[in-house]
Amino acid sequence: MGGWAIAVHGGAGVDPNLPAHRQEQAKQLLTRCLQLGVSALNSNLPAIDVVELVVRELETDPLFNSGRGSALTEKGTVEMEASIMDGTKRRCGAVSGVTTVKNPISLARLVMDKSPHSYLAFSGAEEFARQQGVETVDNEYFITPENVGMLKLAKEANAILFDYRIPSAGNETCGAGVESPLQMNGLPISIYAPETVGCVVVDGQGRCAAGTSTGGLMNKMTGRIGDSPLIGAGTYAGEVCGVSCTGEGEAIIRGTLAREVAAVMEYRGLKLQEAVDFVIKERLDEGMAGLIAVSKSGEVAYGFNCNGMFRGCATQDGFMEVGIWE
Ligand code: ASP
Repeated sequence: MGGWAIAVHGGAGVDPNLPAHRQEQAKQLLTRCLQLGVSALNSNLPAIDVVELVVRELETDPLFNSGRGSALTEKGTVEMEASIMDGTKRRCGAVSGVTTVKNPISLARLVMDKSPHSYLAFSGAEEFARQQGVETVDNEYFITPENVGMLKLAKEANAILFDYRIPSAGNETCGAGVESPLQMNGLPISIYAPETVGCVVVDGQGRCAAGTSTGGLMNKMTGRIGDSPLIGAGTYAGEVCGVSCTGEGEAIIRGTLAREVAAVMEYRGLKLQEAVDFVIKERLDEGMAGLIAVSKSGEVAYGFNCNGMFRGCATQDGFMEVGIWE
């Protein structure tokens, strides 16, 4: 048993022109979240609680695309989604189409703990939030001026915008060798993935958990559901590992990415990093994404097939790092 480990991400696919101060802010936020997780783990908090705690912090800060700062729908509104999974008993909870809940990850947790279901969406999820007395705010709280500007750009380009800018050449890619503009449902997409957040934890007792939270894609259709709330696609935790994905949701769904990592470990006996590398290479042939993972034995791994991913990790032996680029 290798002790506890934690990894966080703030989205795959990074604008190469991202200003230095913004990169610095992202690294500081990731570091702060890791420190929060580390002290919780040192206080013996179970993995599932640490995941919720850290994702809440990421949702509350407007920097990444979750909670406050979420990407906007084509109508300029925010529809958030999140999921959480406790690998010890394979319990899970998820929400979609949440419009007023300050911390969707905690609502997902309540779906897991306090409802007879695994997944609630839209008005039913909002109603459940009120029954449970979670903190709610006006939809405007989530909308930042920066995202309003991005939605405008996305609309001008008739694009589903992954992140901060439309690629100037239209045919750039963070994978090699793609020659035509990237498309999603017939619309061009930016090369940069949005900055969804996620956290995976294995605690000192070898219990794995994972959580993911997002506003989805900028200029998405209202009602669109991505991979982040889908157990097995954007999030998965079982006995052997915990995984949180980010990137082009439609591709992650097709590849059932998070579960695939666990499956190749379970059925092929691969180690965590081998499993991550295999899944990124073999299951993401049509899309761009990344993921973070921890294993029961305290390993931590990343993988992405694009230019970068906001991420960080820490392990019980005192190691901690945050990074953005390859
Ligand atoms: N996977 C998310 C989605 O498609 C976006 C992201 O990871 O940033 O909604």
